Amino acid sequence: EKNKLDSNISIKLTQLGLKLDKEFCFENVREIVEYADRYKNFVRIDMEDSTCTDDTLDILYRVRRDFTNVGIVIQAYLKRSEQDLKELTSQGINVRICKGIYNEAPEIAFKKPEEIRQNYLRLLMIMFDRKCYVGIATHDRYLIEKAIEAINTNAIPNDRYEFQMLLGVGDEYRTQLVQSGHRLRVYVPFGKDWFPYSLRRMKENPKVAGYVIKNLFKKI
Ligand SMILES: Cc1cc2nc3c(=O)[nH]c(=O)nc-3n(C[C@H](O)[C@H](O)[C@H](O)COP(=O)(O)OP(=O)(O)OC[C@H]3O[C@@H](n4cnc5c(N)ncnc54)[C@H](O)[C@@H]3O)c2cc1C
Repeated sequence: EKNKLDSNISIKLTQLGLKLDKEFCFENVREIVEYADRYKNFVRIDMEDSTCTDDTLDILYRVRRDFTNVGIVIQAYLKRSEQDLKELTSQGINVRICKGIYNEAPEIAFKKPEEIRQNYLRLLMIMFDRKCYVGIATHDRYLIEKAIEAINTNAIPNDRYEFQMLLGVGDEYRTQLVQSGHRLRVYVPFGKDWFPYSLRRMKENPKVAGYVIKNLFKKI
C-alpha cells in the first residue's frame, strides 16, 4: 500500500491447514480474503496436487458466497479441468491457467507435453469466450504466441487478462509483452521461509531443479 504496488497475494491451502482440518483452513482463508477485501486487494488460491483439488474448489466456492476478491488456479494437465472451468466461469470467477507442476497419474492427467499445451489453449478459449478474467501463467513461447494470436483475433481487451511468470523466469519475454500493451504479473515467493518453499517445489517436481541448474549456468 505504502509503495502503491499493483500486487495481490497467492496462497497455498496446505500451508493454511487443508490436510489437518478443512474447517480450520476455510476459516483461515476467509480471514485472509476478508482482510484483503478491506484493502481492495485480491487473493489467488494456488492449486496443489490432485488430492487437494476438490477441497480447494470447495473452499473457494464457500468463501465466494461472501467475497468476490478471490480466484483460483486451474491446471491444464488435469483431465477434469475443462469441467471445473465451466463451473467456475458460470460464476464469473477469476482463474489463473497453468500447465500444472505435480506428478499426476496418467488416469487423471495428460502426460504428453503436446496434449497439455492443446488443453491449455482449450481452457484459455473458454475463459475468453465467457468473458472471464484470466491469468495466463506460462513461460512456454508456443503458448505465449498462441495466446497473443487468440487475443488479437478475438479482440480481447487488455483489462480482461494478464500474463503471469515466476520471478527469474521468462525474462526474455517480459519487456516485449509489456511494450506490446499486455499486462504482466510476476509471482514472487515472499517471506523468510523462502528456502524450504523452494526445496518443496523441487521435491514436487524434479524438472524444476533442472531449470534452476540450467538458469544458473545461463547467468554465469
Ligand atoms: C505465475 C505462476 C503461478 C503458478 N501457479 C501454479 C499453481 O498454482 N499450481 C501448479 O500446479 N503450478 C503452478 N505454476 C507452475 C506451472 O504449472 C508450470 O509447472 C510452470 O509454469 C512451467 O510450465 P510452463 O508453462 O512455463 O512451460 P514449460 O514448458 O514447463 O517451461 C517453459 C520454459 O520455462 C522455463 N521454466 C519453467 N518453469 C521454470 C522454473 N520453475 N524455474 C526455472 N525455469 C523454468 C524453462 O526454461 C522451460 O523450458 C505456476 C506458474 C506460474 C508462472
